Amino acid sequence: MKVVYISSEISPYASTGGLADVAGALPKALAESGLDVCRIMPMYRPVYDKGYSLQDTGVTLKIPVGFRTYKAHIRFHEMEGIRTYFVERDEFFDRRELYSLPDRDYEDNFERFIFFQKAAVALMDELGLAPDIVHSNDWQGGLVPAFLEHGIQGIGRAAKEKTVFTIHNLAYQGIFPGSDYAYTNLPFSCFSIEQLEFYGNVNCLKGGVSMADRVTTVSRRYAEEILQPEFGCGLDGYLTKIQDRLHGIVNGVDYSVWDPQADSYLARTYGPDDLSGKAECKKDLLKVMKLDRRRGNRPLIGMVSRMVDHKGFDLLVQAMPEIMKEDVSFVLLGSGMKEYHEAAQEWSRMWPGRFGVYIGYNDELSHKIEGGADIFLMPSKFEPCGLNQIYSLRYGTVPIVHAVGGLDDTIQDVSEDGTGGNGFKFNTYTSDDLLASLRRALQLYRKPDAWRALQRRGMKQDYSWTRAAKEYIAVYENIG
Ligand code: ADP
Repeated sequence: MKVVYISSEISPYASTGGLADVAGALPKALAESGLDVCRIMPMYRPVYDKGYSLQDTGVTLKIPVGFRTYKAHIRFHEMEGIRTYFVERDEFFDRRELYSLPDRDYEDNFERFIFFQKAAVALMDELGLAPDIVHSNDWQGGLVPAFLEHGIQGIGRAAKEKTVFTIHNLAYQGIFPGSDYAYTNLPFSCFSIEQLEFYGNVNCLKGGVSMADRVTTVSRRYAEEILQPEFGCGLDGYLTKIQDRLHGIVNGVDYSVWDPQADSYLARTYGPDDLSGKAECKKDLLKVMKLDRRRGNRPLIGMVSRMVDHKGFDLLVQAMPEIMKEDVSFVLLGSGMKEYHEAAQEWSRMWPGRFGVYIGYNDELSHKIEGGADIFLMPSKFEPCGLNQIYSLRYGTVPIVHAVGGLDDTIQDVSEDGTGGNGFKFNTYTSDDLLASLRRALQLYRKPDAWRALQRRGMKQDYSWTRAAKEYIAVYENIG
């Protein structure tokens, strides 16, 4: 079976979050299961900066975007047996960020990603890739099924591949004014309430949902939640109509990157049979974050996250004074909204030696936090899947999570007697409930044997991509 996997970001080439991790790992697992897979993504500045030796396909495509035509040059790179094609057009993609400036999205995002998606379709035709399945992701890939069906000029196309569309986060739908619809060159009939139209606007994610043969999302619980108004972001009614072709598949994690037994960022590696290295990692983390190293035997809470409301930062702002009344230290790595940057900097001034923050994106530090923290906090308001809680399990860093989406699927609450479960969950999105679960965790932390057993239970769980890949292959095979 041949699969073309289209993503607006792929790790390690260019990344802003979980989508890149999935796009970096799932295709590998599919290939290991015997599928023939290639990927397509934009040629962003980080891809140039990281110095990959890309090869030229010699292909230059002419891509219509409304009344204008732009050239797309195509290069490729092979990594771990997978070919990734890069759509190059510097005026669109050679920018500091992938999607946005600190305070607003790039104004030409609609044109940029129409261009990218059309170039992907044109490339398949130009190279005669003839895949069985085209799998695209998120709003930046939401129009792929429409361009496959109607062609990049909107006048039809012969090939009829089967299509799968994955929602990694329903909160980002790619909504643009209806007056810009002409950029798509699609027939006007697609601008209907059944397909792309959404309150007079064009909704790219709805395009993927309405036109793909199968729609998947990244956990079972989230697949149910998005049918409810509370989580449906305005599309719950529509998603309910198509729920017979909607599947929830929990993401895997890439244990070749996230393994405390072979993690070169850690001060010392460790595994479930010998956790002594974790204490070294904690000392190292306290040092790196300039925290009080004498507090090595007190619980250290870690967090790595985009600093936005839905990751639970509004709750954290309310809860932090109470959290810090406990005998804990806290390290936070993230970037996002300015008000949360300021709050975190204020916290580090209020609790010097106990609260450390690093604003920015830092791979190495994210590994050190997984290795060095005792507890990993993920209080997300909603969470399609979430990856860090699964990394945390492997690193023996006990997760405390709000019981939503993938957090609910992957974390089982520690039982009353402390002998079952792999983390702590709170059910209502309130600081009281968060604090109650933290206090339960701190109580168990004071019982070293029970805590050690809890760490080991998590470390032995397997969330590898092999399992998730099998579920995706079943979806591919079941398209009629
Ligand atoms: P989302 O995709 O919603 O941001 P996920 O939990 O699915 O959330 O994935 C986030 C990924 O990005 C994780 O691998 C996490 O470690 C990483 N990440 C997030 N913020 C940072 C940061 N500031 N520095 C390093 N890695 C980060």
